[in-house]
Amino acid sequence: MKRRLQRIYWRGILITLVMAMAAIGMAAWLKIDDTRAHLDAMLDAALKWTRDSGDDLQSLSDTIAGISPGLRVTYLLDSGLILADSEQKEELPGDPLEDAEIAAVRRGEIGKQLRMSAEDASLTLYLAGRVSPQLILRLSIPVIETARVLMVYGTALLLLFLTLYLVQRRGIARLAADQSRQFDDIRLLMDGETDRVQAVFPEFQPSLDAISYRVRRLKEDHREVLRTLNLRADFVANASHELRSPLTSVRGYAEILKEGMADNDEERETCLSTIIGECDRMLAVIEDILRLGRAENAGKKPAKEQSARQTAEEVCRALRPQAEKKDIALILEGDTPVKAEEKDLWEILYNLLDNAIRYGKTGGEVRVRMEKGVIEVRDNGIGIAPDHLPHIFEPFYRVDDTRDAAPEGTGLGLSIVQALMKRLDGTIHAESDAGTGTRIILHFPTEERKTK
Ligand code: ADP
Repeated sequence: MKRRLQRIYWRGILITLVMAMAAIGMAAWLKIDDTRAHLDAMLDAALKWTRDSGDDLQSLSDTIAGISPGLRVTYLLDSGLILADSEQKEELPGDPLEDAEIAAVRRGEIGKQLRMSAEDASLTLYLAGRVSPQLILRLSIPVIETARVLMVYGTALLLLFLTLYLVQRRGIARLAADQSRQFDDIRLLMDGETDRVQAVFPEFQPSLDAISYRVRRLKEDHREVLRTLNLRADFVANASHELRSPLTSVRGYAEILKEGMADNDEERETCLSTIIGECDRMLAVIEDILRLGRAENAGKKPAKEQSARQTAEEVCRALRPQAEKKDIALILEGDTPVKAEEKDLWEILYNLLDNAIRYGKTGGEVRVRMEKGVIEVRDNGIGIAPDHLPHIFEPFYRVDDTRDAAPEGTGLGLSIVQALMKRLDGTIHAESDAGTGTRIILHFPTEERKTK
C-alpha cells in the first residue's frame, strides 16, 4: 500500500513537473518572440534611417543603440570589415561572415538568429539587413531578462518539488501507519477481541460497522451451531443409554428362557412380563423421540384461533382414570382463545397434565387456568428443587428423586412441549419448589396480543 501510494504520488509530481516546464518553455518562447518582433520593427526603422540620414555611421549606431537598453548596433561591409559598432569595437571575435544572420543577408535574405554571444556567452538575438549593396546593418539584443525569468521559474519549481517531496514523505508515512493500525483493529475484530472498529477514515465507518455486525452474527451463529452439535451429541448418547438398559434386560431374560433356567411357569411368566414391559419402555422412548423430532422439524403452519377449554376437557377425560387412581381432582378454570392446531394443543396439555398427575400428591389436585392467551397448569405434588428446575426442558433430563417414583417417564415430555410451543411462537416456563408443587405457564400468541 505504501509503495502504491508512493508510485501514484511520484507519477503526480512527474506530470506536474513536465507541465510546469512546458509552461515555462512556452512563456520563454513567447517572450523571445515578442523581443524578435520588437527587433524586427527596429531593424526596418534603422535601415530606413541609415539610408536617409547624412550622419556618420558611428554616431548613427550610437543613436540607434540608445533607443533600447542592451541594444547593440554594428555596421559592416560585405567583406566583413566592421565600419561602426555601438560598443566601439573594431574587431569582433571570430569571423562575422560565418555568423548565420550575416550569411543570410549576403544571400539576399533577412538574417535572424538566436544564439550564444561569442563575447560574453549570453543568449542573444541577432537580426541583420542590407543598407546598400556593400553595407550591412546588424542589431543584437541579449535576452537576459528571459533567461532570468527562466531561472526564477526554475528555482521556484525546484523549491516546489522539494516541498512536495517532504510533505509526501510525512503524509505517506502517516497514511501507512493509519492503515496498518486499521488492519490491526480488523484483526482484533476477527479474533473476537473487540466488538467494533473505529475507522481511521470516517467514510469507511459504515462499511466497518457492517463488517463488525456480520462478524458478530457469524460468531453467534457459530456458537449456536456448536451448541446444537453438543446437544445432538448429548441427545444421541442419552437416547442410546435409554435404549441400552431395557435391551440388556430383555437379552438377559431371553437368555434365561433359552437356557431353560426358569424352573417353573411362574418364573417363565415373570421373564416374559419383564421382556414385554422393557419392550414397551423402548417403544415409549422411540415414540417420544419421533414426536420430539416432528415437533422440532415440522415447519410452522398458520393456525386458526380456537378455544383451549374444549381441548383441555378432552385431555382431562383421557387422563381421568390415572387421576382417579391417585384420587387427584382435575379442575378447569376459565377459557382463552389460542392460536394453535388442536392436535398440538392436545399434545401440550396431555404431557403437562400427565406430569402433574404422575408427580402429584395422592388426594391432591391439578388445576388448569386459562385466561387471555395464558394457560397455567398447577399441581400440589412433589415439586422440583431449584437445582433441577433449569434443566427440566432438556431431553432425557429426569430429576433423580422422581426416577423411582415415576419410572414410566422417558424424560422427553417437557422437551416435546417446549418444541411445540416454540413452533407456535409461544413460550413456556416453570415455577416450582420441592414439596410445594409445580406451576407450568404457557404464553400463546393471540390475535388480540398481536394487534396491540
Ligand atoms: P418425564 O417423561 O420423565 O416426565 P418430562 O420431560 O415430562 O419427562 O419431565 C422431566 C422431569 O421434570 C421429570 O422427570 C420430572 O422429574 C420433572 N417434572 C416434570 N413435571 C413435573 C411436575 N409437575 N412435578 C414435579 N416434577 C416434574
